Amino acid sequence: MLNLILFGPPGSGKGTQATKLAKQFGLVHISTGDLFRYEIGNNTPLGTEAKRYMDQGQLCPDTVTIGMLRAKVDRHPQAGGFIFDGFPRTVAQATALDRLLKGMGEEVNVLIALEVSEDEITARLLERGKTSGRPDDQDEDVIRKRFSVYQAETAPVYNHYAEFGKARRINGVGEIDNIFDRLTAEIEPLKQLS
Ligand code: ADP
Repeated sequence: MLNLILFGPPGSGKGTQATKLAKQFGLVHISTGDLFRYEIGNNTPLGTEAKRYMDQGQLCPDTVTIGMLRAKVDRHPQAGGFIFDGFPRTVAQATALDRLLKGMGEEVNVLIALEVSEDEITARLLERGKTSGRPDDQDEDVIRKRFSVYQAETAPVYNHYAEFGKARRINGVGEIDNIFDRLTAEIEPLKQLS
């Protein structure tokens, strides 16, 4: 198996690149943001709870998020690997993911962070908000809040994997295809290991 974490602040392009990488390497793409939006769209109790946090730019509680992630992984017993997008977002989530994969005799092979500045991200998200219909992309205060939550709670996840020599950074600014090439250059050498 090849298990990747695509990391970076909101609006750094994780969703776009994860979709392309999943296709290229035959991986199951799991986006916790998409899973929450699916629950919201179906008016489930989980969706109703998640929406309260998302609309304010806060993280959903770890227990809820981890349970949902685990259920999704369990639905893909034949997967050749996973690409995690928007997860883990806290060190507790990272530890839970490590434990889940270990139970399957697997591990995270690499975390790749897309580096993009706060100003670039704010501009991208406000632009996305014009067409995405996402309430959390339409309010600059909510966008700034997501960025500060990212720095306080999510950025430490990078160090969690860097300690094991598994974290990389790449420049997340430029053409989509060029960024994709930078990502594949990091991932190709790992294919042989899996
Ligand atoms: P973005 O990366 O653009 O912020 P996402 O679609 O990944 O967008 O996430 C949207 C929102 O969903 C987050 O702001 C948060 O409220 C919630 N969310 C997504 N993933 C997680 C997670 N792993 N832990 C907690 N909350 C999450």
